[in-house]
Amino acid sequence: MVMKKLVIASQNLGKLKEIKQLLSDLSIEIVIPEKDLDVEETGSTFEENAMLKAKAYQQLFPEFYILADDSGLEVDALDGRPGVYSKRYGTSDQDRNQKLLNELESVPDEKRTARFISVMVLLGPTVHQIFQGTVEGSIARTIAGDQGFGYDPVFIPVGYTKSFAELGSEIKNTMSHRAKCLEKVKLFLKTTVTE
Ligand code: IMP
Repeated sequence: MVMKKLVIASQNLGKLKEIKQLLSDLSIEIVIPEKDLDVEETGSTFEENAMLKAKAYQQLFPEFYILADDSGLEVDALDGRPGVYSKRYGTSDQDRNQKLLNELESVPDEKRTARFISVMVLLGPTVHQIFQGTVEGSIARTIAGDQGFGYDPVFIPVGYTKSFAELGSEIKNTMSHRAKCLEKVKLFLKTTVTE
């Protein structure tokens, strides 16, 4: 049986690298679109934004499966911010991370809890599925590590004392929000999408 093509509806290089790595054992052809549709994230939830991206790419590739994700960081001491606005919280990764540390300067260690959330939408000719993955952790006091992307240098997963950016992709990919979400996507694809 030949599996169909799966278009990854993203132009974020950090995310694409992780998604490609995490799906590498799946017998489905992964397509990374050259064209950046630059879909505006006007939704108020991760799910709405993932659906907006998925639908935009489905218009370009109506005969393929489309996988779109929206993700972000929820910080409890900030009532869940930056959340769906994680990408727009600052002008660069460095700026976003520094802004977060400044906002949390007076917050004690035990109240610095946070989580990464990934929501993925899989669309296909007869498929319409939503998946979610989360990883719990806390916000560090300094920016540390040069691996990964985004908020990885300030996020310390539960059970560790180092940031995702210090731990590296091998460890991050065993527990991240994206890895957990993609496990569910993979199970679905393996059991349902076989032609
Ligand atoms: P979007 O899903 O493309 O809207 O991006 C969400 C924002 O959350 C971006 O600023 C990312 O840098 C950040 N983000 C999402 N996943 C991760 C991650 O695994 N590590 C660090 N930052 C992340």
